[in-house]
Amino acid sequence: MPARSQAVTPLLAKSAWWAGILGWYVIRYPHQWRARQIPRGEKPGRMLELTLLSISFCGLFVIPVTYVITDQPGFANYMFSPAAAWLGVIVFALSLVLFYRTHSDLGRFWSRTLEIRPSHQLVTTGIYSYVRHPMYSAFFLWALAQALLLPNWIAGPAGLAGFGTLFCFRIRREERMMEEAFGDAYHAYATRTRRLVPGLF
Ligand code: SAH
Repeated sequence: MPARSQAVTPLLAKSAWWAGILGWYVIRYPHQWRARQIPRGEKPGRMLELTLLSISFCGLFVIPVTYVITDQPGFANYMFSPAAAWLGVIVFALSLVLFYRTHSDLGRFWSRTLEIRPSHQLVTTGIYSYVRHPMYSAFFLWALAQALLLPNWIAGPAGLAGFGTLFCFRIRREERMMEEAFGDAYHAYATRTRRLVPGLF
């Protein structure tokens, strides 16, 4: 009996990972659909943006989905911890709540790649009054949940590495773009808020 329940728990962790991915997709899909109907704006560094999105997609989806389906790369497996998996479920749920809030507060100004749309406005209210990049905070929480849910030294941290790469190469360009578009208003906003975690960084 104990051996059996141990066999089920990693499966539940993998199911929780699937549920998180599905939840994320359900939240994002309407915004992605609407974004396609809105006239496109200026897009700086398009090739770099697509490369970074691909790296992030590999880390947050391609590598973990391969592991979840095939258990590969097997050599990198380590002992499953139910406590870590439970924490992973909680962190994934928090990430989805935050992800939902950021999409509803940013509304039609959301875009997958960096872009200033015609009639773009600066959002500094709702969740954006606490930090400047709450959607990226939500992605980091998702990546952390992946590391907690999947007991594999490659598939687990792949999300942190993949999204971390996108974040590092995008964040200054995004803030420069916002400052060019909104000038003093963005500068003042950046002075009174942190990037990812209120009061910390
Ligand atoms: N970095 C933000 C938004 C990610 S979506 C976050 O993590 O929550 C990326 C797009 O959002 C960028 O192309 C930019 O045009 C837009 N954007 C970022 N911050 C914004 C803000 N405060 N107000 C309006 N649009 C913003």
